Amino acid sequence: MTQGIFHTTCPSCGGPVHSYSASAKTLVCPYCRSLLIRDGASVSDSGEDSTPFEDYSPLQIGTTGHDQGQAFTIVGRLQARYDAGIWNEWYLFYNDGSSGWLSESGDQYVLTRPATSSATLPNFADIRAGESRLTVDGNVYLAADVRDITLERASAEGELPYPFSGTRHNRVADYRCESHFLTLDYGEEPPEIFIGRGVALADLALANTRSDAQILDTAGALKGSRASGNCPHCGAPVDWLRGLTPTIICPSCGSDLESNSLIASAHTTGERQQKIAERHSLPLGAEADIDGNKYTLIGLVYKEEIGENSGWTEYLLYHPQQGFLWLVETDDGEWSVSHTLNDWPALKGNGAPRGMGKLYDYRSRVRHAAGAFYWHIKKGDELAHHDYDAGKREKLSAEQNAQELNWSRSIPTSRKQIERWFGLKLKETGGNDEQNSCLGCFYILFIIYLILNFPAWLAMNDDALVTSLVISGIIFTALYRIGKRADGGGTDE
Ligand SMILES: [Zn+2]
Ligand SMILES: [Zn+2]
Repeated sequence: MTQGIFHTTCPSCGGPVHSYSASAKTLVCPYCRSLLIRDGASVSDSGEDSTPFEDYSPLQIGTTGHDQGQAFTIVGRLQARYDAGIWNEWYLFYNDGSSGWLSESGDQYVLTRPATSSATLPNFADIRAGESRLTVDGNVYLAADVRDITLERASAEGELPYPFSGTRHNRVADYRCESHFLTLDYGEEPPEIFIGRGVALADLALANTRSDAQILDTAGALKGSRASGNCPHCGAPVDWLRGLTPTIICPSCGSDLESNSLIASAHTTGERQQKIAERHSLPLGAEADIDGNKYTLIGLVYKEEIGENSGWTEYLLYHPQQGFLWLVETDDGEWSVSHTLNDWPALKGNGAPRGMGKLYDYRSRVRHAAGAFYWHIKKGDELAHHDYDAGKREKLSAEQNAQELNWSRSIPTSRKQIERWFGLKLKETGGNDEQNSCLGCFYILFIIYLILNFPAWLAMNDDALVTSLVISGIIFTALYRIGKRADGGGTDE
């Protein structure tokens, strides 16, 4: 590849600056990091400078690759932090002069290219995740993720095709159709369309990536490596994985933390408490050997079913190559393994997967969460759930709110399997700390019964008293047995 088509010198430091694409509007000086705005043949210094704040990515300016046979070079990056996390948008310049984007969020990658369509595009305000449809090139897309966010402290590197500023209002809707991915970006009028797919870096034949040694050298650690600090609010120890999970919730006090505040407080000391995490069968930080891969349990969330006195715990596990995995434990002690689907099922007009029967519709609310998550989870978050029968005891589930729709596939597993994976014996009780104790109820009823009947027993003759006490004894023995069984045996297989 040549040294670009546009050459100039940095007005701030005099260093040589160039761009590859003719449409570059923002250039970041590789020497002094000044943010330069290009206008025709001239550039002006915006007065801002721009340094990506977190650099665990194997990608860099100058990384080359192949996308479906076409060579590209990474020439720019936007790094953004917002409410739900951090992501990199890598700007790709193809050998034929066209462009594309490789978005990197946690360890999920999506590659899109600018597209055109004669389809009538919706107003941003009318788009609803899981409801709004859009037909482009014969594919019927369903809205999957609708974001109206302000990016603060965004930073740039290399060149970008739009004028960049550190704060950027972003209105974007992502759509999916099986393995196809479509984004509408409402930053321009009319909105821009990008079409692509989820990708694995291994499929892009990358070269000139950063080695682990280089990443270690600049970031001091690798993405996904373990870090720990103390909660600035309660002092309890908190562990997290670098670069993957923007949200960390203190397992002791439930405070919403950023890894920056944790690093700042890493030297404060505190009593070791794990109040929230303690209520659950599996502890944060537990390691599981699943099919020869060592996963770490990094987050757990308890969801109550709205309108029912029950719920379930979801455990988030991470493996550096295999990515994320969920384990789900119901209050009844039933376990399943669940994967979020990158390729969606083929959907019918009513949103149901083709060829699958409906199982259940229900709603959930987050009661508490602890540890690290790849989105910003909050107590009180509500979701609608739709479960479908995928055969062989497997379930396909849609989780949906107004902004987001996700599909996952879950497979039942046994309590014994969970114990083997984690190499531990599970506690006897499930996750719901507020479960009624049947045995406790029994004792209360027993005492009330005695108090109510005592005056009657005093007034009875001997024969009537014996009969009454024998009948009471039989009833209470039966109730005690029922109470005890419901209390202790709930989580056995
Ligand atoms: Zn410079
Ligand atoms: Zn805390």
